Amino acid sequence: MMPVWFSLSLKFLFIGFVAVSVGLWLGATAGWAVACLGLALLHAVHVYQLARLQRWLQSPKVEYLPDPWGAWGEVFAGIYRALRYEARKHDAVDKELELFTQAAQALPDGIAMLDSGDQLLWCNDTAAAHLGLQTGRDYGLRLTNIVRVPRLAAFLQSASPEETLDYRPAHNAGQLLSFKAIPFSDGRKLLVSFDITKIERADTTRRDFIANVSHELRTPLTVIHGFLEHMSDAPVMPAEQARRHIALMVQQSDRMLKLVDDLLMLSRLEGGDSPQREERVDIAVLLQGLAEDTRALSAGRHTIELTVDDGAAITGSTDELRSAFGNLASNAVRYTPQGGTVALQWRIDEQHRGLFSVRDTGIGIAAEHIPRLTERFYRVDRGRSRETGGTGLGLAIVKHVLLRHQATLEIQSEPGEGSEFRIVFPPWRSVLEAPLAQADAA
Ligand code: ADP
Repeated sequence: MMPVWFSLSLKFLFIGFVAVSVGLWLGATAGWAVACLGLALLHAVHVYQLARLQRWLQSPKVEYLPDPWGAWGEVFAGIYRALRYEARKHDAVDKELELFTQAAQALPDGIAMLDSGDQLLWCNDTAAAHLGLQTGRDYGLRLTNIVRVPRLAAFLQSASPEETLDYRPAHNAGQLLSFKAIPFSDGRKLLVSFDITKIERADTTRRDFIANVSHELRTPLTVIHGFLEHMSDAPVMPAEQARRHIALMVQQSDRMLKLVDDLLMLSRLEGGDSPQREERVDIAVLLQGLAEDTRALSAGRHTIELTVDDGAAITGSTDELRSAFGNLASNAVRYTPQGGTVALQWRIDEQHRGLFSVRDTGIGIAAEHIPRLTERFYRVDRGRSRETGGTGLGLAIVKHVLLRHQATLEIQSEPGEGSEFRIVFPPWRSVLEAPLAQADAA
């Protein structure tokens, strides 16, 4: 296409040529008249094109660019190309910005961007939830005017990436947050918030656990220590008294051993999600042994009943299941007064789930304790648990064994009436023997 200056020059030359020709032919006045008319026409065309361009520039949208004429076509096409190029650049920048925003939104931690005056420029949804902000509405407001925590204002003043501020938001007191303020570009700050509630809870649990273990070990140790001191102060003591002391020391050391054994078992169980070795567990054999152990523990004080469906077997770890079943059976004996009954039962239900239950006619448990029974060291009656040789870890062990076998524990109990602890295994753990499988097929 022709450049504007060239096209204009041609038109001037053409008007000049026509005007001179007419002047020579019809006289100078006619020549000047043609020249004036030609220039006026040229002027009008350009003024019109300029006016269209000016009108369009007031709202320069590519799709509304006027249709060009003549030499102006090149000008308009140039503008069009420049605009398309800018629009494409904008699109690319917008897309990248959107990507960054999405990435910041996807972060599990809160991010809020503040300007040098601590005014909120942007924040992701997590930061909004942590700080009780509304994204969009609170942009441009000073953060310390929205979150009125004096410690936060002081923290932002002395922003340093090494420092952290821990704080419980007023709108969610159960949550513990940790903040970091990271300075960047011209006094702006990135306020990063982390939810450390779980870490704090785990820390408290760990501390409680250590305190509990220390306390549990300290009690028998104090008893043993007392006897030993007494014996060293009185090296000569009647044989009967010495025998009694030694028997009590053996009892206390047994208690410590049992506690350490349970702790080791728990830590082994917590070390993985499933048993290291899965095998076919013959429930009938396992429960025969368990019933004998339970009778030995009861020493004739209770009636022990055992009911096992024929051909019952499941896949799992024999040792772990023996420990879980044993804990339930020994609890039933320990919390059932003399003359009571303990019933052990195994069956496979219609949905092929293996069900093991231990029912007793013992002291029972009040409803409010039931949800907490499987917590480590949780006891309804500490004195009774200790008296009967309990470590407070039995049901925690049961819980972990069941987790590793994808089984669940159901507890029903009535104070003064007795309790039923029932383990429900998933159907895929049941090994169905021939008669049951055939009956199913038929
Ligand atoms: P412990 O060694 O104290 O028995 P467990 O973890 O085995 O610890 O049980 C936790 C608590 O649950 C016990 O202290 C006891 O209060 C209660 N409990 C467990 N089984 C029974 C039961 N069969 N009857 C009554 N209370 C029970």
